[in-house]
Amino acid sequence: MKPTLLFSRFLLLLIALSVLQTPAWAKSPQINDVRLWTAPDHSRLVFDLNRTIEYRIFRLHKPERVVLDLYGVKLRTTHLKKLVSSDPVIKAIRHGKPEDGVLRIVLDVEEAVKPRSFLLKPMHGKPHRLVVDLMRSGSDVAEERVVTADQMRSKKEIVIAIDAGHGGEDPGAIGKSGLQEKVVTLAVAKELAKTINARKGMRAVLIREGDYFVPLKKRVLLARRSRADLMISIHADAVRNRGVKGASVYTLSERGATPDKVAKALAARENAADAVGGFVSSEIDDPMVNMILGDMAKRDSLNSAYLLAETIIKDFGEVGPVKYDVPKRARFAVLGALEMPSVLVELDFISNPSRERMLRSSTHQKRMARALLNASLTFLKRQGHLKQTAVNMLQHQYSSAHQVDGLKCLNHSERLVISYSAGERQRELLPLI
Ligand SMILES: [Zn+2]
Repeated sequence: MKPTLLFSRFLLLLIALSVLQTPAWAKSPQINDVRLWTAPDHSRLVFDLNRTIEYRIFRLHKPERVVLDLYGVKLRTTHLKKLVSSDPVIKAIRHGKPEDGVLRIVLDVEEAVKPRSFLLKPMHGKPHRLVVDLMRSGSDVAEERVVTADQMRSKKEIVIAIDAGHGGEDPGAIGKSGLQEKVVTLAVAKELAKTINARKGMRAVLIREGDYFVPLKKRVLLARRSRADLMISIHADAVRNRGVKGASVYTLSERGATPDKVAKALAARENAADAVGGFVSSEIDDPMVNMILGDMAKRDSLNSAYLLAETIIKDFGEVGPVKYDVPKRARFAVLGALEMPSVLVELDFISNPSRERMLRSSTHQKRMARALLNASLTFLKRQGHLKQTAVNMLQHQYSSAHQVDGLKCLNHSERLVISYSAGERQRELLPLI
């Protein structure tokens, strides 16, 4: 072969390779898919992109519209037309080309919504995304009132906050036959809410009511606002080994605690929900989110959560396999409302095909919800005499808005210890953290 021919072949090979490996920024931008999620306070449109883009967003009035101009972007999906269905705000979605190189998407809306938008980089298997939120009036979290001490005093019913993990953009773990964690968690959460609401003097608060994403900090905020007596966050686990099965229950551990590798890895996965679901840090600016408890109160709360977790494990053993027969601890962001005992329940392993079938079964979902209710009742009965002191503690907390003085909660702590030692067996107390 002549050297020149060899060289030209080499050149051709180089060109072929460079075409195959075109960097993301060099590709012409396009929308590959679009989804719409309807939350109680906003509607969220998510555009899947092949690379980052330039765009602008603005409102037009009479009639109300939100307009997106995307520069040099091609629309490679037909899903846009199919989106508008039961969304209470978006009436229609249209698109056109007002000028060369501009893709315009017009959202006809029912009311004057506040648009908010941001770009997300690829992560956890998701591509570049453009997120457009249409915030309904009165949806600003900072606008809502902080609970007053008087309101606390008037609270008579028992409230249980139920947090269905994941939602919207974030499906959570996905089983072999396609069952999504967010679907199971919501089904069990709703079932549990139904059984709670059927009982006199009890009320359930669903942190997530439908298929939309709720950032972890907002879940904590909603739990706090609900002034619940306890919170249960519902999830389903997944691992590579499809044989692994069983429920597990987690409580919060704080910095300085001995790390449990498995629990730590799980917490990291669950805490990644914000990145997958699409969260802007400025979204929640509410002092209630960052309220902290004094050391004594915190220790009491973690002890109570541990007791609740133990009770749930016991009742879950009646309805299915249990992975760990003692609660585990890790730093789960969603368990941040420390003034109420909060636990995170992994119902089972969705990665195990036979357990996935069970998780899909509405009969089994009902059984799991019933186990969660029974455990909550057992726990509340045991804690019953603590109720008033717990309320006092909260009153102090809400009136000082940001911080609770641990010393003021000393009585609460002592009683808790006494009640535990008077129980069937001495309970392990957490070290001060
Ligand atoms: Zn989860």
